[in-house]
Amino acid sequence: MSPLLDVSDDVRAEIGDEEAERLLAGENAPGAYDCTSCRTPGNTSQERTSTVLFVGGETAVLAFAHASCIPSQVVSVSEEQLRGAVRSITGETQPGQSGEATRGQAVLGVTCGQILIDDELFPAIVVEPTEPIVRPGSQGPGDDFLPLLIEGGFMPVSDVARAPSMLGGWSVLLAMGKLHAVLQNDPAGGDASAWWQAHEPLSVTDGWRASANQRHTVFVYAAPAGTIGQQPREDLLREALEKAAAGGLLVAAAMPLAGT
Ligand SMILES: [Zn+2]
Repeated sequence: MSPLLDVSDDVRAEIGDEEAERLLAGENAPGAYDCTSCRTPGNTSQERTSTVLFVGGETAVLAFAHASCIPSQVVSVSEEQLRGAVRSITGETQPGQSGEATRGQAVLGVTCGQILIDDELFPAIVVEPTEPIVRPGSQGPGDDFLPLLIEGGFMPVSDVARAPSMLGGWSVLLAMGKLHAVLQNDPAGGDASAWWQAHEPLSVTDGWRASANQRHTVFVYAAPAGTIGQQPREDLLREALEKAAAGGLLVAAAMPLAGT
């Protein structure tokens, strides 16, 4: 039986007709896979599956996703991001790697909103853990979330009206208009990894997507657990950010956008 694979025109253009036909004929289809979007198991013989091609500067990696999660598409990423994306696709982790401090201990909640700076709207995401984050090896109590991020290059925010500065080595991965991950390069020169990976790709508003694509930059704000909370409107989110900044509980960085 041939696999239930979707190969979009742009994926086909990248991999070529021959490879596309081989996939559709089942020669190269994976059978069982982990969905690149929701990361739960899928099977090309049992459910409609999208081919997703991550294209870096020199290499490309073909991945698979439930068609119900994301459509077949090409995602452009840098070579470093490609390696990070591949690791998050395959679910590999490197124990002890720096940057993992905030993973596996608490869930990072992420809220998208646009933020007005100098009369211009910028796409922003606000990251807030569900519970205090302690340094690896530390037993707590306390919350090391902000110190860890500042060590990673985030800057404390004292005035929300000022744009955060660009942080090298990090990026925000958007695919088919949904937020997938915040990627971080290994400062030691190794492969990039997903600092935050969406459990399910996060929908963003048309306005957010438009300004992200226009500016190729996303402002990433972070605050300790219990600081911001779920804010249903952008003006309320702004107020909460200003309050956090006034209390010394807000850090931020500008990151380039990867994907579209
Ligand atoms: Zn899925």
